[in-house]
Amino acid sequence: MGYADRSRPPSEWPGLETSGLTTLTDDIYYGWLEHEANPIFWHWCVALEGVPEDRKVHEGCWVAAGASAHRLVSREPLHLEPSLLWRCCGLHGFVRNGVWAPA
Ligand SMILES: [Zn+2]
Repeated sequence: MGYADRSRPPSEWPGLETSGLTTLTDDIYYGWLEHEANPIFWHWCVALEGVPEDRKVHEGCWVAAGASAHRLVSREPLHLEPSLLWRCCGLHGFVRNGVWAPA
C-alpha cells in the first residue's frame, strides 16, 4: 500500500506527526511547517489520477502547495484570504472558520 491509496492520507505519513496536520475534507489537508507563517496544503489532485508513479513528483495523487501569498486572517480556526485555487486540477475554494467552502 502506497501513498497512491487515498486511504493513506497525509495525516498518516511518517514525519508529519508534529505538523498539526488537520483534515479539511477527504481531499484536502493542511499542516504547519517550521519557519512558515502560513500553512502548507495537500490536496488529492484528480489531474494526476492515471499518471504513472514514475512520472509524478510526489507519490500518489497528493500534491503539496504552500499558501505564502495568502493573508492569514486567523490561525485557529483557520481563515485565509483570498480563496485558494490549485491550477493543476482547478480545485478552488475558501478556507474560513476552519471549514473548506467550494468556490
Ligand atoms: Zn491539483
